[in-house]
Amino acid sequence: MIKIESKLPDLGVTIFSVMSALAQKLNALNLSQGFPDFPPPPELIAALAQATQQGYNQYPPGDGLLSLRQKIAAQFCQRDQVHLDPISEITITPGATTAILCAIQAVVNAGDEVIIFDPAYDSYAPAVKLAGAQAIHINLVHPDFHVDWNVVKDRINERTRLIIVNTPHNPSGAIWSKQDWQQLIELIQDKNICVLSDEVYEHLVFDGQQHYSALSFPELRDRSFVIGSFGKTFHVTGWKTGYCVAPQALMKVFRQIYQFANFCGVHPIQVALNHFIEQHPEHILDLPNFYQAKRDLFIHGIQHSKFQYLPSPGTYFQNLDFSTLRPELTDIEMCQYLAEQHKLVAIPISVFYQQPPQDLKLIRVCFAKQEETLHLAGEILTKV
Ligand code: PMP
Ligand code: GLN
Repeated sequence: MIKIESKLPDLGVTIFSVMSALAQKLNALNLSQGFPDFPPPPELIAALAQATQQGYNQYPPGDGLLSLRQKIAAQFCQRDQVHLDPISEITITPGATTAILCAIQAVVNAGDEVIIFDPAYDSYAPAVKLAGAQAIHINLVHPDFHVDWNVVKDRINERTRLIIVNTPHNPSGAIWSKQDWQQLIELIQDKNICVLSDEVYEHLVFDGQQHYSALSFPELRDRSFVIGSFGKTFHVTGWKTGYCVAPQALMKVFRQIYQFANFCGVHPIQVALNHFIEQHPEHILDLPNFYQAKRDLFIHGIQHSKFQYLPSPGTYFQNLDFSTLRPELTDIEMCQYLAEQHKLVAIPISVFYQQPPQDLKLIRVCFAKQEETLHLAGEILTKV
């Protein structure tokens, strides 16, 4: 007789798997899980084929290909005027998710508290629980999902070990201003509290606004992990390749965990990304306009629909408010209704909360789609 006890007994299957499976089952338009329905740049695909043919098929260095880490350092230097040592301060990982998990395990101990802003990406709280710590959920204030800093001040205590930030923010699209960061600095600078800044959508910021990385603030430099994902930036979510940046002392404890969580990332993918970034520096520079045009095409397509929305300032997600359309439905019921009756699958926002606000009638759609898909989405949503 085998007896096992789940470490995460309250957790089911992630919403992304559930909704993508539903879309497949109903043969519906899948705007739920965040991924592009268009191909990555052909030169990147060719670079991957070439890397495998050239023999990059065995383990790369555990911390990642040095030339790729140097490219990441160069980007931070140019954008944030921060000088990183690619050898001791950057690690390439098989996806941002693994980096998040390892960073949390590295600095959070049993009995600690970790502040998470809800709605939150769904991997944070389980990772905190696995560390034996307690997630302290603080709701962002909608409709613009800003932080109420008075609440944060009240929730910080001597057990607080880590604050998880996500800007640009999934699922709301909100981005942190310089003032937000300054408020955070004021609250934690004299305390033993680390920051995990999930910046996987760092290049998807619109309307001329700016992304502020945790690393651009000298006060946060010695206490912050910054997480990135090549999957979002290069339209290759299935390549699961990301990175973690942290000061030497934090990176040391991160790598102690990471070397046994995965040891290394995928070698030919790192070679291909490195080659592509070298050959096509314009790719990243073009990304804000590329995705802003998609966002604008999508919202143009739904302008005569009964959904209400604020254009998303960042990420490739747009939230839609259905409170005047079907106020009697919960967001989960609304997604079910849209899937079954209109063959369009979205994500209910309430699943990203520990305690969703009562009146929240929001669904999330992903606009990382080809024009044809965005037109079709507009037609469907206008008929609802
Ligand atoms: N953080 C956020 C906010 C995300 O949206 C995602 C997307 N999956 C991740 C982390 C994980 O990225 P990756 O696929 O590189 O693990
Ligand atoms: N980040 C993506 C999203 O928010 C999907 C991640 C996943 O499937 N785990 O939709």
